[in-house]
Amino acid sequence: MADNESRVALVTGGSRGIGRATVLRLAQDGFDVAFCYQSNEQAALELEKEVQEFGVRVLSRRTDVRELASVRTLVEETERELGPIDAAVTAAGITRDNPLVLMKDEEWHDVLDTNLDGVYNTCRSVAFGMMKRKGGSIVNISSVAGVYGNATQSNYSASKAGIIGFSRALAKEVGRYGIRANVVAPGFIDTDMTSVLSGKVKDKALESVPLGRLGTAEEVADLVAYLVSPRAGYITGAVLQIDGGITI
Ligand code: NAP
Repeated sequence: MADNESRVALVTGGSRGIGRATVLRLAQDGFDVAFCYQSNEQAALELEKEVQEFGVRVLSRRTDVRELASVRTLVEETERELGPIDAAVTAAGITRDNPLVLMKDEEWHDVLDTNLDGVYNTCRSVAFGMMKRKGGSIVNISSVAGVYGNATQSNYSASKAGIIGFSRALAKEVGRYGIRANVVAPGFIDTDMTSVLSGKVKDKALESVPLGRLGTAEEVADLVAYLVSPRAGYITGAVLQIDGGITI
């Protein structure tokens, strides 16, 4: 696909943080962009305006990624209004941290349902169309917690490890249809998700980051934009860490 062709991207969890930066980056690259969010309509409306400044089309919907039927509707509306989806990015995600012995069932299920089922629901909804069209690119946002595990995040780490296994299986299944599926695994990124952490927790984490700072959502979005572009045409099934070296 040439860089100047009209393309459509869908980003889940696009209203804030990494998803938001990805929506803007893809719009800057000329994608028409659809994105969904869970509750923060104000953030979504503000983002819509910013996206329009790039001269591309934008569609936003309040869609709970935990519900397959809702995600299917989002995909149908996107394809009806913007055209076939070329790139899907799953950034919707939550944390509900607790040591395992204190973890509540709902904390376990909320995280697995949002982070892992959300990825399944999205990929399940876009894959068939991409297969029929013989092309597409999927980027699922995991975490270094899914590769190495984080104490007090057994639910989150399990969900993010699940995304890696899922995406590798998907890459093997759909590669012959010209579809690439990759994973981005960020470390500590400066978003609302990490702003709730105490200064002490942040300082401790930063001690392990060779680059000595949190990453930005824009830096993650740049990597996503690369992965969905033709420049990454021979990359699939990859898990790309973007973590300032925290896992060295
Ligand atoms: P964030 O700032 O908290 O934003 C989360 C986004 O997900 C929001 O747009 C939110 O919508 C949406 N969302 C949450 N639950 C949803 C649901 N059920 N259905 C639809 N949308 C939903 O998070 P972030 O830091 O950008 O994280 C984005 C992704 O990167 C997540 O998957 C996260 O696990 C991953 N990640 C983040 C970091 C980090 O350090 N920040 C590190 C590694 C991986 P509303 O605005 O409506 O709430």
